[in-house]
Amino acid sequence: MPRTLIQQDIEFVQGKIVTYLGREITTLEWDPEISTLRSFLADPNLFQIRVPDYIGTEHAIIFLSQSPNVEYAEKNFIGHAEVIPYDEHFSKLWGLHNTGQTGGTADADIDAPEAWDIFTDSSNIVVAVIDSGIDYNHEDLQANIWTNPGETGGGKETDGIDNDGNGYIDDWRGWNFTSIPGNNNPMDDYYDIYHGTHVAGTIGAVGNNNKGVVGVCWRVKPMALKWLDSEGDGDTANAIRAIDYSTYNGAHLSNNSWHVPDSGSLLAAIGRAQTNGKIFIASAGNDNINTDITYPYHYPSCYDLDNIISVAATDHNDNKSPFSNYGPYSVDLGGPGGTDPSENNYNIYSTSTGNYYQYHAGTSMAAPHVAGEAALTWGHRPSLNWWQVKTIIMKSVNPLGSLYGKVASNGRQNAYNALTTATPNLPAAPSNLNAQAFGCDVKLTWNDNSNNEDGFFIYRKTGNIFVQFDYTGPNVTTYWDYDLLPGYYTYYVRAYNQDGNSQRTLYATVKIIY
Ligand code: CA
Ligand code: CA
Ligand code: CA
Ligand code: CA
Repeated sequence: MPRTLIQQDIEFVQGKIVTYLGREITTLEWDPEISTLRSFLADPNLFQIRVPDYIGTEHAIIFLSQSPNVEYAEKNFIGHAEVIPYDEHFSKLWGLHNTGQTGGTADADIDAPEAWDIFTDSSNIVVAVIDSGIDYNHEDLQANIWTNPGETGGGKETDGIDNDGNGYIDDWRGWNFTSIPGNNNPMDDYYDIYHGTHVAGTIGAVGNNNKGVVGVCWRVKPMALKWLDSEGDGDTANAIRAIDYSTYNGAHLSNNSWHVPDSGSLLAAIGRAQTNGKIFIASAGNDNINTDITYPYHYPSCYDLDNIISVAATDHNDNKSPFSNYGPYSVDLGGPGGTDPSENNYNIYSTSTGNYYQYHAGTSMAAPHVAGEAALTWGHRPSLNWWQVKTIIMKSVNPLGSLYGKVASNGRQNAYNALTTATPNLPAAPSNLNAQAFGCDVKLTWNDNSNNEDGFFIYRKTGNIFVQFDYTGPNVTTYWDYDLLPGYYTYYVRAYNQDGNSQRTLYATVKIIY
């Protein structure tokens, strides 16, 4: 009988049978009921055995595998729980979990299931979706959509009164800024595209609800702020109104998958968001240009504000998406954004108005992957400030050859790394930067406020962008920039250590004349 032969094989490697109940025995019983206990329930001929150390697992496997009585022998690998959510179309989301299902490269993804094994519930984090609105009734979004606590409940939401005094009447689920004063219906009516609804689904479609897709966050609060109209167009002034609404009405961060011409008032609005501790995620644009040097630059992603995270797009092979803009100073990192608008399976699948789902490609789709990661990280560690969240996101990328020298971090976002990156012990920011001209030389001085810096990075504006062109050691408070041509020079300084950089000083500008 094969079973006696199997027993002889097991005895030869001095193995003991380990039942699924955890008991070890040396003999193989013939009673089918008992033998069931000694094997896996689904297959009575499958045995877990333990061999002594001096025999060794590898040796036992080699011997048992050669036996004609053994179909296969293998190690009892240590497994790790990986949370794969039950959402109908999860397998289409290669950006979250890539097994090569679209013909791409396995693990060219943001390691979402690994991250979800740690944390899924960012329901205390509000992410403003500054876009064409959101289908707030969508079956896979409705449960997550932000509602304004100051206008919600007891029928107040439609009483014609600005209950929370924020200047918007009955803004109980966001606002529609496409007209003045606008209205309280931010439904996404951008026909055929439904851009804002798609973005919202990538950030926070309800996870593990046996329906549709899943966002980077299973639970989070997308705030619907509509400024793009039914054709996807909008006035910069309305974008600014929407940004200010997000800043002053409880959003932690905003997703901005759009571009406009250069605007000082837009820059100032993003600055107000920074002053109030908000992160501003911006798409890098779809022109396949280096936005460090190609004029006109891409706004708002190219503004030199620390709270902006500018996102390029990657494809399912971890290449830069063919359309994606790049630039080691103006673009921060990559996120999944697809291949080509006509190559649907390779693109990003998400929610669409009317309980539909559809594919899109673009840096517009990459940015919300990073916004979702920011919300996941912040939800996991609510004590972090915006600068620490950004630092963690930048430090936790997977470096990619395809993005080397093309984005500041040289890599593509990784949500699992973000959740496992320890809180950075950043140096305090220097202050009181002063720039003084001595002939054709500039003397910089500043206050060193840090006790854990490795040194200071010196930045100077070249063209439209600031470049870190030199550095000092620790506890230095003076720097000389020699042999400059006549003109204006603007500088800032920040401290650095192994965990990252401090926030920067204010700018200091000096004029060289001779
Ligand atoms: Ca109100
Ligand atoms: Ca009201
Ligand atoms: Ca879902
Ligand atoms: Ca110091």
